[in-house]
Amino acid sequence: MSRASVVIVGGGITALSAAYELSGGAAGSNENSPRIEIIEASPSLGGALQTTTFGERLMDLGPDGFLATRPEAVQLAKDLGLESELVPIASSGANIFLKGELRELPTGLMLGVPVNRKQVEEMAGLSKQARKAAKRDWKKPRKLRVGDDISIGAILANKLGEELAYQLIEPMIGGIQAGRIDDLSAKSIFPALYNAARQGGSLMKNLAAMMPESRSDAPAFMSLRQGVGSFPHVLESLLRERQVVIRTNTAVTRVRPVASGNYQWEVDTESTTTSANAVIMATPASVTGHLTASVDKALAKLEHVRTAPTAMATFEFATESIQLPKHGTGVLVPLGTKWTGRDSLLTTAITFLDRKWSNLQRPNTVVVRVHVGRSDDQRYSHFDDDELAERILQELAFILGEAPIPLRTVVTRWNVGLPQYSVGHDRLVSAARAASEPLSMFLAGNSYDGVGIPASIKSGRLTAQQVMRSIS
Ligand SMILES: Cc1cc2nc3c(=O)[nH]c(=O)nc-3n(C[C@H](O)[C@H](O)[C@H](O)COP(=O)(O)OP(=O)(O)OC[C@H]3O[C@@H](n4cnc5c(N)ncnc54)[C@H](O)[C@@H]3O)c2cc1C
Repeated sequence: MSRASVVIVGGGITALSAAYELSGGAAGSNENSPRIEIIEASPSLGGALQTTTFGERLMDLGPDGFLATRPEAVQLAKDLGLESELVPIASSGANIFLKGELRELPTGLMLGVPVNRKQVEEMAGLSKQARKAAKRDWKKPRKLRVGDDISIGAILANKLGEELAYQLIEPMIGGIQAGRIDDLSAKSIFPALYNAARQGGSLMKNLAAMMPESRSDAPAFMSLRQGVGSFPHVLESLLRERQVVIRTNTAVTRVRPVASGNYQWEVDTESTTTSANAVIMATPASVTGHLTASVDKALAKLEHVRTAPTAMATFEFATESIQLPKHGTGVLVPLGTKWTGRDSLLTTAITFLDRKWSNLQRPNTVVVRVHVGRSDDQRYSHFDDDELAERILQELAFILGEAPIPLRTVVTRWNVGLPQYSVGHDRLVSAARAASEPLSMFLAGNSYDGVGIPASIKSGRLTAQQVMRSIS
């Protein structure tokens, strides 16, 4: 019997992890390995994982590290022989630009959420009302009906009051997701918060009881010495050695079920059709919804999963020319923060990249990255790259007190950006999977199983295992 054929649509880290697992994982391919074809629309593999040369540094343009408290990315690095390339995060802590001043964030928050009264009491820059709200949650917590899902914002505003929700906590959660806490699903994005709210009683006490024990010797984040772009780079070589067919610069235009014959699916591009026994859709949900809309209504609904485009400007400054806060890997900025310009700040966060990663440290220069853009704030898109860099430098001067002329600048735009898991996202995903999996079509990645490199690797590898079961 001929080998089974699997097509993977998309070539991001999810797709590559799936192909790695399908082609035998750490053990390598064997006679049961299917024929695998990856079809990627852009010129290179890796999706958001892109590393470039920035002066003397090899620097990531998208994700610059990954959670090391979960195992998947660290394990993949080990599987690929990249263990010696792992670098732990070099610094901890963060600042927030609160009411016009830089303040250090308390340590021990859970995704930005305080887990005890003291963290709020001791933090400078908060009002009496914010402190009262924290005290109320501790002593006489408000009741809240949580239901099957609820927004993160609805929980936080009810339990901890609006100031803590939108000024202190949203910059962290909204920053990671490029979205608004009022839209984001607690159940899908922050299950610990969802469960803490469902338990009733004090949100902070419930969260404190769920805090994982911190092991002071274990780094929470890691990266790779040559950038996280090493993952796609090494995976591509390995997959080519394993005879995986890799097509870049080729957009999939349609995925069609086949009524009869040996194959279940046909995957179309502008000029070709590939037959497959199983298809893994590792594209953003909106793309997947578009490509598979004719298969089932539940799949068509994926087209409505919004993404939040963002951009970032990365600057190299002479070390002595810029004054950064003494501690922390960066600064969070609450939405709508006023400045001297006519509108509010575009900046959502600032990262001191070479404080995070020792491989980026150089004796005389520092690297500062400024992030702009949220699901509901696309003002940055009206600026061209030079205008955007100029505007961001003005904002940097306002926040840090000064911003010298940079030695080097790069502006990066993420036009697709991060998927927004709105309230009820899990129902949408379950319905789409219930419709597609019996037909041997599998949905993997960023849009379904959590945002981030470890979650995407896990999604790719587990999906590949499902595919193996379905075709065997
Ligand atoms: C700016 C930014 C910063 C981030 N920072 C971090 C971080 O520090 N740490 C972390 O863990 N995570 C971070 N993330 C999240 C992380 O990068 C993603 O969760 C992960 O890379 C998603 O991988 P994926 O393969 O599921 O999707 P993607 O990387 O989006 O890959 C999907 C692929 O599908 C392709 N495609 C689209 N349409 C078609 C088509 N019609 N035909 C064929 N191919 C198509 C796309 O070109 C793309 O390559 C960040 C993301 C962004 C955007």
